[in-house]
Amino acid sequence: MTRAISIFGATGSIGQNTLDLIRRNQDAYRVVALTGGRNIDQLAADAREFGAEIAVTCHDDLLDDLKTALAGTGIEVAAGTQAIAEAADRPADWIMSAIVGAAGLAPGFRALRHGTTLALANKESLVTAGPLLMAEAAKHGARILPVDSEHSAVFQALVGEDMTAIERVIITASGGALRDWPMERLYGATLKDASAHPNWDMGQRITIDSASMFNKAMELIETHEYFGIEPEKISAIIHPQSIIHALVGFKDGALMAHLGAPDMRHAIGYALNWPDRSPLPVDRIDLAQIATLDFRPADEARFPALRLAGDVMETGGHAGAVFNAAKEVALDHFIAGQIGFMQMAPVVEATLDVMSRGFRLTDAINTLETVTETDHVARIKAAEQARHLQEKRA
Ligand code: NAD
Ligand code: MG
Repeated sequence: MTRAISIFGATGSIGQNTLDLIRRNQDAYRVVALTGGRNIDQLAADAREFGAEIAVTCHDDLLDDLKTALAGTGIEVAAGTQAIAEAADRPADWIMSAIVGAAGLAPGFRALRHGTTLALANKESLVTAGPLLMAEAAKHGARILPVDSEHSAVFQALVGEDMTAIERVIITASGGALRDWPMERLYGATLKDASAHPNWDMGQRITIDSASMFNKAMELIETHEYFGIEPEKISAIIHPQSIIHALVGFKDGALMAHLGAPDMRHAIGYALNWPDRSPLPVDRIDLAQIATLDFRPADEARFPALRLAGDVMETGGHAGAVFNAAKEVALDHFIAGQIGFMQMAPVVEATLDVMSRGFRLTDAINTLETVTETDHVARIKAAEQARHLQEKRA
């Protein structure tokens, strides 16, 4: 039987890796919806190749280009944020949520209502609205499968285990592009410096987030939200080789690690084939050749984002949505050259601080609209904080 699948963020790094796996076994799948952004050529080419039912770009102004690119194919086309959310209503057995940023929340949330299995790469969904998303899945009997490599690793280490026997979870971090720089130099890191990842080939934003460890901070929060593990049991460690992706420690002292080549098709493939395992086109690691696996503590002075993640988990409520929005704004300002690399964390910290006054940060998030509102306010506040820092810097 063929499985109906949709990919949100099909033209991105995760989306393309997902299509790569589908391509190798095309008869097993029927592609329903593919969505993308400005890269209309890629979106149209993929829609044609996989005979998608519908192709959607999030940009209204690109609808005509998409129509032209798919003229005569019989493939439906649509544009805009609403059209992307509606595409998630189309019946599918499995959906990949791989839009980058807070925009990825709505379509995944919508798919859960239909009981669809959600392969979740979009980490912002769990960070901004973890409890809401998990409750929605439970309500509709839908399953969420983690696609972030660390969470897929934890998920695999937990197969058949008793959740109450977990003592600790350690997720690994490559340390990013600047891991060997002395701390003083980090203040002068440029966009180019932060955009070269030593191990993983990923989108630009997540690559910079790796260098600042905002990515790892998001992942600590994701671990807490997805597995329901207490913040004090979750930590990150620098492991430059990116061979071990995560470890789970149990109350008898045993530590179970997941090892694999740094290739996202591991995690994507596990979610695609779950609960089975099927062959994947990933490199097999040769331990004798690797010879050593190194570890270093993840220093919170060097990576303040990790400390902020701890605060966010303790605060709960709206803190994740504020953290994520402020992080995105800080990143935009860094990419635009308006603030320095080490000014991103102060923007996020100041935004959390400002919003903890006169705003009930600890209130539970009950609706998707609340997440959107908090996101909106946090972006305005974060932009103000970034401006303050920019003025100080000038
Ligand atoms: P990417 O930038 O390569 O691709 C993003 C996709 O989202 C593209 O298809 C783009 O067109 C689409 N998009 C961007 N903005 C949009 C918007 N406002 N509305 C609708 N669509 C939009 O990103 P990526 O590296 O593939 O990452 C996707 C998600 O997966 C992110 O949340 C990221 O944190 C997560 N993730 C990525 C990796 C990785 O290795 N790349 C690993 C773990 C988790
Ligand atoms: Mg990851």
